[in-house]
Amino acid sequence: MSRFWSDLAHSLKPYVPGEQPKITNLVKLNTNENPFPPSPKAVAAMQAATGDDLRLYPDPTCSNLRQALADYNGLSIDQVFVGNGSDEVLAHAFQALLKQDDKLLFPDTTYGFYPVYGDLFGIDYRQVALKDDLSIDVADYLGNNGGVILANPNAPTGLLLSLDEIRRLVEGNPDRVVIIDEAYIDFGGQSAVALIPQYDNLLVIQTTSKSRSLAGLRVGMAFGQAHLIDGLERVKNSFNPYPLSREALAGAAAAVADVEYFDMTRQAIIELREWLATELANMGFTMTDSKTNFVFVEHQAMGAADIAAGLRQQGVIVRHLTSNTRTQNRLRISIGTQAECQALLTALNTIL
Ligand SMILES: *Cc1c(COP(=O)(O)O)cnc(C)c1O
Repeated sequence: MSRFWSDLAHSLKPYVPGEQPKITNLVKLNTNENPFPPSPKAVAAMQAATGDDLRLYPDPTCSNLRQALADYNGLSIDQVFVGNGSDEVLAHAFQALLKQDDKLLFPDTTYGFYPVYGDLFGIDYRQVALKDDLSIDVADYLGNNGGVILANPNAPTGLLLSLDEIRRLVEGNPDRVVIIDEAYIDFGGQSAVALIPQYDNLLVIQTTSKSRSLAGLRVGMAFGQAHLIDGLERVKNSFNPYPLSREALAGAAAAVADVEYFDMTRQAIIELREWLATELANMGFTMTDSKTNFVFVEHQAMGAADIAAGLRQQGVIVRHLTSNTRTQNRLRISIGTQAECQALLTALNTIL
């Protein structure tokens, strides 16, 4: 607290990211990072971008990266926006598209940044309860609203809505923008990017942080018809015209172009997830049908806080999200390498 803070600074409840411990030999399964390294081509491109050219500003239009993303998704470059992590892309989208007279809708159990941005930008919102099985019923988002934002698959539940359900949501809100946050879509879902040519009110947001192993680079993207992208550009160019460094632009473009490496690593994570889910079920855990790079589990006999504390003592960290009463007995565990998952199972064996 300080007497110099503005009323706004006083009022904020900032997002609390998962711990990034300074100790190095921990098995870190708490922030949904990818256990595989980035594409070697991406690393080489970043190294090549690090040199005397750093005295120059990066390309403010980010055109090489946007073109790589347009090519991968079958879109045109004016349907692609990029920013400093999808968190920044989300921030611009809240200001450009979701600040309306009616209330913005999102689930009561979802990515913790949505209410934080709502409060920061003075956007009225209503948090819609999930169903008892933690699923989202699209029918709950078809009434009067100032826009809708859903994570698909949702976090931390891991549950996926089908493309037909997304279509129903978008068609049911023809005068409002529907934003689909697809941070985890590459681990088993069908992207709503395919619907963009048909709908003028759909914005899809993705990130290189999870499926492309580049959380440290901070590159996120949005896809939508050009008029929506223009709205994001207006906010971006009123805030920071150079959100992506030269390294970030080069590395992300090379990662997006390396489709072979991308498909190999995301497939490996899907297989590890299915194996880990079976092992955990054998140990008495129940869990949602996750289509992400994490599992969301609850144990029959032992509480989540005790399990998390026991794991921590053995050098394994997982995420225990305590703020939501309905899910507070669950743990969100990121999919690690085979060795990391095995270390988790070994530690659990001694705790349970
Ligand atoms: C990880 C995550 C993000 C943020 O990703 P960055 O691109 O690293 O900022 C956004 N939305 C959801 C649902 C996430 O899980």
